[in-house]
Parts: sequence; C-alpha cells; structure tokens
Amino acid sequence: MLFENFPLLSRIQENVRKSGYTHPTPIQEKAIPLILAHHDLLATAQTGTGKTAAFALPILHHLASEPAAQASAQPRCLILTPTRELAQQIYENFLAYGNGLQPRTAVIYGGVSQVPQIEALHRGCDILVACPGRLQDLAAQHEVSLSQVRIFVLDEADRMLDMGFIHDVRKIAGMLPVKRQTLLFSATMPTEVQHLAQDLLDHPREVHVDPVSSPARDVDQYMYYVDKANKKHLLAWLLSQPEVENALVFCRTKHGCDRIVRDLKKKDIAAVSIHGDKSQGARQNALNQFKTGQCRVMIATDIAARGLDIEGLSHVINYDLPNEPESYIHRIGRTGRAGHTGTAITMCCIDEVKQLGQVEKLLGFRLPEHHSDWPMQITTPTEKTQVLPHSRAAMPVQVTRQGLPVPGKNTHGRSRSTVTISRNGHPVTTQRSGLAQPVRRINRRKGSGT
Ligand code: AMP
Repeated sequence: MLFENFPLLSRIQENVRKSGYTHPTPIQEKAIPLILAHHDLLATAQTGTGKTAAFALPILHHLASEPAAQASAQPRCLILTPTRELAQQIYENFLAYGNGLQPRTAVIYGGVSQVPQIEALHRGCDILVACPGRLQDLAAQHEVSLSQVRIFVLDEADRMLDMGFIHDVRKIAGMLPVKRQTLLFSATMPTEVQHLAQDLLDHPREVHVDPVSSPARDVDQYMYYVDKANKKHLLAWLLSQPEVENALVFCRTKHGCDRIVRDLKKKDIAAVSIHGDKSQGARQNALNQFKTGQCRVMIATDIAARGLDIEGLSHVINYDLPNEPESYIHRIGRTGRAGHTGTAITMCCIDEVKQLGQVEKLLGFRLPEHHSDWPMQITTPTEKTQVLPHSRAAMPVQVTRQGLPVPGKNTHGRSRSTVTISRNGHPVTTQRSGLAQPVRRINRRKGSGT
C-alpha cells in the first residue's frame, strides 16, 4: 500500500513525501482510514511504529477541510501526552505534516515560562498539544477553553497512569464536549487503561500493532554480567568502540545519571543527562545536543526518555536494569527505529539478576552473554537490612563466585557479622556468624537464579 491510496489532501500527501515516507507503517495503514471515517479508536502500538503520523495526518485532513477558524479561536483538537519532550516532538511533527495548511498548532507544557504559551493561545490555535499539568493551570486561569474540542487524542495512556496523571486525564476529559472523536493510544493495556478507554471512548474500533512484548525486530541485543562498581569502566570501554556512533544510556535514578556523567568526564568522554530534576531548558538543551550530534552520549532515566525519537541512534545501553520489564522494551525501542538497525546492551550486576530474568521472560528468550575485562566477581546480593551507626560499620565482605572470601580482602575482623554496602551506600549488616554464606551461583541454563 502507498500513502497515495489514502484520500488525504494533496498538500498533506506532499508533506508526507517531503518527510521521506513512501509506504504507511502497519499502525498508519490500519488507523488512518478509521480516523478519517470519524470513528473512536483504541490503539495499542509500540513506540517507534509511526503512531504520531497515524493520528496527525487524518486530524490535519479533517481540520484543514473545514472552514478556517477565526483568529483567537479556541482549539478544535487536543492532544494530551505525558512528557514535555513528547509534547514538543508531536508539535514539531504537526508543523512538518501540516506545513502550508491552515490549521495552527500550539504546544504547552510546564517547566518553562507560560507567557509565550499564553501568547500563542491568544493568537489562536486549532490543534493544541499539551501536558496535563500546564493545561489545567492555563484552563484554571481561563487562558484556554476546551469547549470547542471535537477531536481528543490521549497519547501514551499507560504512561499517564504510571506517572500518576490518570486523575488529571479524567478531569480534563470532563472539560471536553461529550460529542467528539476520541483516539486513545497506549503501548500496553493494563486494567486501568481499559477502564479509562471504556469511559472515554464511544463504540471504538480497535487496532493492535506489535504488543509490547515484541521488541523492535531490528535490534541486536546482548548483555554483560558485571559488578556494580565496574559498570563505569565497562561503559567507558563500550563507548570507545568504533561501532558505537552514539548511545543513549539508561539509568534508574536521577542521581545515578549525574554520577555517570561525572565518571565519564574523568575518562574524557562528554555526556549530557536528562532526568526529572533538570529544568525544562536544561532537558531540551541536552536533547538538542544529542539529537544534533554535538554530544554523542546521553544518560537518561526512563521518565525522561519515553517515546523520544532520535534519528539514527546506534546504541541503547542499559546501565541499570529497569524495575518493570516492559520498560526494557520501551528503552530498546529508541534504536532500530523506522527501518534502521540498532544494538541494545544490558549490564547486569548480582542485585539485578531477578530483573534480568523478568525481562528475558517477557522477551521469551535469553539475552546472549558477552564477556568483558570486568567479569562479575561479587555474587552475594546486597542485603537490605538494618543500617548500623557508622562507628560500628565494617568494610564490605567480598566473595568469589563460589561464595568464598576473596583472599586478603576480608581481614578487618571487627565483628562476626557480614557487612555489605546497601543500595544507598550505607553500611548494612546481617547477623551471620563468621564468613559469608555460600551464594547462589549464576547458572544461566538453570534459570539465572530468578
Ligand atoms: P513515532 O512512532 O510516531 O514516534 O515515529 C517513529 C519514527 O518513524 C519517526 O522518526 C517518524 O518520522 C518515522 N516514520 C513515521 N511514519 C513513517 C513512514 N510511513 N515511513 C518511514 N518512517 C516513518
């Protein structure tokens, strides 16, 4: 099938050609005719499948086919999306696909001054791309009214849920006219999203493309077992490999992101980071540097990186395994997009063996293991028990993969407790007598101890 087969306005067809697309992706092939026919839509689509164009093109067609709205008119279409980066990305896509057409698009999100956003709203916009928080703020200030909205798109509904926006979404939906077309996109369909869909959609048509358990096909995936303390060395080595043109590195915590940037700097590797503690300006700046190739390494938390479209990303590196296995699929979906190939490398320390097993269960196969100069040596999971005052703290006990003390490393002899370092860096103790207990051995064939 070709784009020309869709009854879209010729200007939209031209803009699509200029974007370099010839054939619609599966979600576009299925969703565009349904949206053009004014149906409500419930769509499950993996990130990177071209879902933005799947809703943007028919929306532009509908709005451009109607009489032009008056200046300072209120939005006729609302697109609600969870993160600021996604909002900006969707806005830019609408500008590209709608180039030369009448409908005007505006974007509003928090973390930046509301003044230019209000000015854009006063100039009038037909399509409003928004994050829930700023939209509610501006609606409460009467700077925007949603009473004219006839098309409502809820993007990344499952992420809205994860980020605690579900009540905001319901509130915003309550401000919309009842008579409207609603399109709900979600990568997964947890029960809460299904309930939301039941409440918001009217006799929806359903489109399911590549459930989240099937990652991008063109991504080569493998993993390393490595001790937590050695991850920074392995990362620096990986980044020095010639095939790594650019890399998006995922870390579980905001502090962790900043620490990795500092560790890499010590090795003369420039990296930017993007996470929820950074101002929106700093986030956008980091993203621009990464997208334009000024900086080839970006460290990110899951929240900040969801749905980002980074053209030609060669590598995704999981410095930490995610807590939720589905996040692994979203992470690696940043590479291997739109027909390009990519590589996803995962680092796993002893504390993450369980999460690795969950990811592999979701994938339905074991990630091939590669070996590095930093093989895993610590095989005792960090124990999360009572924190002792510093005065009673001893040095961590190190053990080999066989569970024996590493010679010459455990001679402090201050107590008969086994002392290790907790995840937050505090010394912790367990009441074991003498040496460390024998440990679970890593045996990939027998299920990775998961
Ligand atoms: P999305 O899932 O909307 O974030 O899109 C993922 C990537 O696919 C973006 O870089 C789009 O520009 C690209 N894309 C969207 N539709 C097509 C298409 N029909 N052919 C080729 N690339 C596309």
